[in-house]
Amino acid sequence: MASSIGLISLTPGLGHTITSSKNKKLGIALVGLGNYASRQLAPALLETKMCSLKAIVTGTPSKAIEWKKTYGLKDHQIYNYENFDTIANNDEIDIVYVVLPNNMHKEFTLRAFKAGKHVICEKPMAMNAQEAQQMISAAEQVKLGLFIGYRLHYEPHHREIIKLCQEEAFGKIKFFEGGFGFRAGNPNQWRLKKAYGGGALMDVGIYVIQAARYTLGHEPIAVTAREYKTDPVKFKEVDEVITWQMEFPEGLVANCTTSFSASTNHMFVASEKGFIRLSPAYTYGGLGGYTRKYDFDFPQVNQQALHMDGISDHLLNGTPHLNVGGDEGVRDMKIIDAIFKSVAMDGKRIVI
Ligand code: NAD
Repeated sequence: MASSIGLISLTPGLGHTITSSKNKKLGIALVGLGNYASRQLAPALLETKMCSLKAIVTGTPSKAIEWKKTYGLKDHQIYNYENFDTIANNDEIDIVYVVLPNNMHKEFTLRAFKAGKHVICEKPMAMNAQEAQQMISAAEQVKLGLFIGYRLHYEPHHREIIKLCQEEAFGKIKFFEGGFGFRAGNPNQWRLKKAYGGGALMDVGIYVIQAARYTLGHEPIAVTAREYKTDPVKFKEVDEVITWQMEFPEGLVANCTTSFSASTNHMFVASEKGFIRLSPAYTYGGLGGYTRKYDFDFPQVNQQALHMDGISDHLLNGTPHLNVGGDEGVRDMKIIDAIFKSVAMDGKRIVI
């Protein structure tokens, strides 16, 4: 089955309860004010045209004081993890954006649905495919939207690569290579703890899975994977380096790497008559693309602002979003589950 990734999507069964209005901006509540929320999402919400920051959810009162000053928030727009559910009574909020450690994604997504809010949930969507599927079922039950923080679908280099691949601009695609890794410094961070859904694959390997899927245009049918550790103490609980191979229909293959100890950031699509390369490929800016014949460079965009605006436009006006729905999140979680299974079985081929 050809992948729908990279295309555009409607949300089946979505109750478009939001009345479309040219002047209406959707209200977003950020849940968890860590690095991504404070350094990327909140500043992006100053640039968005179709949504704005209307509440924060934090367990740290001192952060609330700071955010109230910076973003002009009022007392009634400040929530903590205990009183979060009362957000149901706040009509200013349309979307809850879950930016918590991975093991908390499902709980806060389900609580947001109970409160009658649409959800954007950060990647990886959940701890595993089963949890992700439960989140999808909950969304369907309440007829609310569930979207994943796949910002790169709104990034012009990635749009261009998807287009070139769909057009077979360099002939039939034969294989994909990609890697995303960095050095996870602080040994005490949740990203190094299994119970939090830590590890390189969940954190950044997922981008490579996505890229392989949207360039090859198919869903993988099997994976084989191996894990390697140069620092078994630091990476006692989670994966440091995983290399995996995904088999796709028609003999297509993707060779992929993720790492929490070394920097790598690229994707490469090889076709009969040429190639497309992007490096860095997954950063917030400074992406660089080239093919066998020419370089391609697009002006830097605010990926987070475009992503949140795209979802808001979808909810307000029914405009298709660029395939950042929960269904995409589940597909990736199934692949991640299969990669971990293969690792646990010494590289056995796992059919997905
Ligand atoms: P972070 O550690 O900087 O922030 C996590 C936040 O959760 C903190 O504010 C922390 O106080 C809060 N929190 C609440 N309960 C907690 C608990 N029990 N333990 C630890 N923290 C708790 O992490 P981050 O880098 O902001 O990542 C948050 C989420 O966003 C993750 O799912 C991550 O994968 C995702 N993320 C996505 C992108 C992207 O480009 N889409 C980039 C970075 C992070």
